[in-house]
Amino acid sequence: MSSYQMATDCLHAGYRPGNGEPRNFPIVQSTTFRYETSQDMGALFDLEASGYFYTRLQNPTNDTVAAKICALEGGTAAMLLSSGQAANFYAVFNIAGCGDHVVSSTAIYGGTYNLFAVTMKRMGIEFTFVDPDCSEEELNAAFRPNTKAVFGETIANPALKVLDFEKFAKAAHAHGVPLIVDNTFATPVNCQPFQWGCDIVTHSTTKYMDGHALTVGGAIVDSGRFDWNAHKDKFPGLTTPDESYHGVTYTERFGLEGAFITKATVQLMRDLGSIPSPHNCFLLNIGLETLPLRMKQHCENAQKVAEYLQGHEKIAWVQYAGLPGDTYHERAKKYMPNGTCGVVVFGVKGGRAAAERFMAGLKLASIATHVADAKTCVLHPASSTHRQMNDEELRAAGVAPDLVRFSVGIEDAKDIIADLEQALAGVEAV
Ligand code: PLP
Repeated sequence: MSSYQMATDCLHAGYRPGNGEPRNFPIVQSTTFRYETSQDMGALFDLEASGYFYTRLQNPTNDTVAAKICALEGGTAAMLLSSGQAANFYAVFNIAGCGDHVVSSTAIYGGTYNLFAVTMKRMGIEFTFVDPDCSEEELNAAFRPNTKAVFGETIANPALKVLDFEKFAKAAHAHGVPLIVDNTFATPVNCQPFQWGCDIVTHSTTKYMDGHALTVGGAIVDSGRFDWNAHKDKFPGLTTPDESYHGVTYTERFGLEGAFITKATVQLMRDLGSIPSPHNCFLLNIGLETLPLRMKQHCENAQKVAEYLQGHEKIAWVQYAGLPGDTYHERAKKYMPNGTCGVVVFGVKGGRAAAERFMAGLKLASIATHVADAKTCVLHPASSTHRQMNDEELRAAGVAPDLVRFSVGIEDAKDIIADLEQALAGVEAV
């Protein structure tokens, strides 16, 4: 556990250069690593020695950045992946396979919903989706004997519902399974899910962590706290020998702190290969260095934008947990006392057509299938990221058909509000 504050770790965690070594960790742009003897190499394959042999499994640049993200979340082990989609897939598939079942919040990113409800379902894994604001009884009723995990998002994209961590962690642990939380929107700067009972955190690093819309990437961090051995029968992949990897039993060899990430690396990454390039990890690291500064600015700007929109006659509704009347205001204050994220969602009076007119009128904010980076951007999820959902699924995910997702950047808030003002002026009053 680092003794430094978040801002210091964002700069220094994972790498302390020695005498005469490069100040920035270099990009080790090499697929392979040379050894003197086959025995040297064999010891690496047998996991008896640590070292690098092939970048699909491990690379020094990637591992350095993973170690930083691990420190930021307060975890014991972490890995980077080529996308947030890969991170969520690996995190769940590492412990749930054909014939298993997972409980997930309905309020999750549309791509994750599709991954679970369509693609992983085709792989034989069943998902039960629950309203994140359901009662404890309803949540407990969703579990089955073959349930292997519970999944949620800290701040759901784009519904902006804030997860009740303690309710979800309590139910997961009562049924002997871990809580996996996608912490993309809050980032470890604003929320520390491990402090609230979460066991495994995932990220789309593509968003605030990168922060400049440069690289698609993902991360998984393990708290090291979930006791796989206490539920041996549920998690044979971690607690019994893996014949595909020289009969290693991950919990025995790597302990609770390393078993989950080691298995996901040497088994899933070996077979599925969603490794980010060292160059992309290097760029991600540059983003991480300024994450606390940017998150502060995103949150301050978003607060001003939300307050401005709330008072505007052409705006039907606004949702942002920083607004005192917001459904998630109190919960956000508890789990994210320093702010939530820079994303504000709202409806323009006149519905979908008015929203489209308004978006076309924006000059500074760009319409982009992206969210959570330095430049302000805007999206209409029902016709883009969530277009695979029918109206009922949209409602369950908290995505109204007229919902505009406005990702407030770190430009001067006055310019962002002036852009909103002129675009709204072009929308007919209803
Ligand atoms: N999780 C969340 C909360 C997201 O917002 C996204 C993408 O928008 C993803 C996961 C998927 O990440 P990626 O686009 O990096 O694959």
